[in-house]
Amino acid sequence: MKLEYCCQCGAKLIKREIGDEGIASFCEKCSKYYFDNPKCCVLISIINNEVNGDNNINNINKTNDKKVLLLKQNYISTEKWTLCSGYVQHGETFEQAVSREVLEETGQIVIKSNYVKSYYREDKGIIMAGFVAFVQPCEFGVSKEVDDLRWFNYNDVDSIIAKDNNFSYEHLNACMDFINSKETNFYI
Ligand SMILES: [Zn+2]
Repeated sequence: MKLEYCCQCGAKLIKREIGDEGIASFCEKCSKYYFDNPKCCVLISIINNEVNGDNNINNINKTNDKKVLLLKQNYISTEKWTLCSGYVQHGETFEQAVSREVLEETGQIVIKSNYVKSYYREDKGIIMAGFVAFVQPCEFGVSKEVDDLRWFNYNDVDSIIAKDNNFSYEHLNACMDFINSKETNFYI
């Protein structure tokens, strides 16, 4: 969000140089700087942790038959499926935001997650921390923000996952590369 006025006194902000930060918005009345920081979001590939009935968390399947949980959110697209995502709230870490968003939007409980890659959206002024999260599949929850939920085989998502103005496809592939590059143990 680009601020034009001071949040405390309402005066119009001016531009002023501040050390290594370059130019920032400044209220002359309050002697206060304002920074146009991006909003923080999480973007999550939800992976089914069941591997041929083996519930051992370290036995992540290395083949391409992994199952990924995709969401249909009509406010994003009525045609394409997307990954789970949401804003980070004050007082929580990225990992906590991942667990909360997955639970809120899908009803699934995250048993392990890892940071993979980040994405910046200029048009929305948001920075997205991309995670992979493993869940033990259970019944889907109900969310007003989600119109449909479905488990897909990774091999089948190419034609149905969002690619335009959306990082779902890029991030899911990054997560698969990440999983396949790991030996066995995931941390966190
Ligand atoms: Zn002010």
